[in-house]
Amino acid sequence: MSDDPRAPFGDIIEAPFSSEQVDALNRYQRSGVFHEFTCAEHHDGADRTLVATRQGWICPHCDYRQSWAHRAMLDPVPYSLTKRGHP
Ligand SMILES: [Zn+2]
Repeated sequence: MSDDPRAPFGDIIEAPFSSEQVDALNRYQRSGVFHEFTCAEHHDGADRTLVATRQGWICPHCDYRQSWAHRAMLDPVPYSLTKRGHP
């Protein structure tokens, strides 16, 4: 389950995610350090940041779904790199 030969870009993980993975992915989305996953639709400027669930990514505004993530997104974000980190 480590290397996926179908992935054109390194290591990926696929849903269903574990609770720990969901937490890590949502931390990544809020970190502000890297570009987060967003919905392909525009939603008139609404927040298009995808939300990780055990079944995969969901858009808060539509039925957009995504079932994979970069394994690197599971790595804890170094605190020194967080721009919006809690004090
Ligand atoms: Zn959407």
